[in-house]
Amino acid sequence: MMNDTLPLRYRKIQDVIERSCTQSGRLPDSVKMVAVSKGQPLEAVQHARALGIRCFGENRVQEARSKFAVLRDEMPDLELHLIGPLQTNKARAAVEFFDVIETLDRPDLARALAKAIAATARRPRLLVQVNIGEEPQKSGVAPEQLSDLLATGSELGLSIEGLMCIPPVGQDPVPHFAKLAGLARAHGLCELSMGMSGDYAQAIAAGATYIRVGSALFGDRA
Ligand SMILES: *Cc1c(COP(=O)(O)O)cnc(C)c1O
Repeated sequence: MMNDTLPLRYRKIQDVIERSCTQSGRLPDSVKMVAVSKGQPLEAVQHARALGIRCFGENRVQEARSKFAVLRDEMPDLELHLIGPLQTNKARAAVEFFDVIETLDRPDLARALAKAIAATARRPRLLVQVNIGEEPQKSGVAPEQLSDLLATGSELGLSIEGLMCIPPVGQDPVPHFAKLAGLARAHGLCELSMGMSGDYAQAIAAGATYIRVGSALFGDRA
């Protein structure tokens, strides 16, 4: 990618965040951008880092490790989010490497995470992914099973801070954002990870506290 476009794109995203916050009566620092670096080379992450970006999202444990292993040591303030589906047998690796795991979506994964947390003394922050459009094949807990999963999490001693969703492709995301915000409110959860490159302004209007921005920041993925 061209180095000089990243600062411009970042500036533009910051402007949109600020404007969306102002329009919905929110403070700009109530929304945090997760820079989604999946499919981007280490060089792109380095450029983002030079701009002051400290919060990154990856969807695979292995890719995150190969890209961020060195940076972890160099960047004490790095905040790494896992935003892709997590297999139970990789729970420990994820707990060891990520600061926030956004994709807790089933009881067996909750148990594996609790075990990994006990074994490693690391305590990543956790969000539950909700299959907000109730799509077959899509990861995320079904909305009607959310209460049970949260109860399981709390029995296991997990502190779950919020909800995450990916609305169905090709649909208006706004009703889905509103539904996720309603579920979070109903369960007293304060973090909401929703909104990607194409719809983060609407997500902010609906209450997002994390937006996950990939291509609008880095350009197309390899
Ligand atoms: C890839 C990805 C994103 C970023 O998507 P863009 O449209 O490139 O901003 C956000 N969230 C998740 C879960 C993703 O997998």
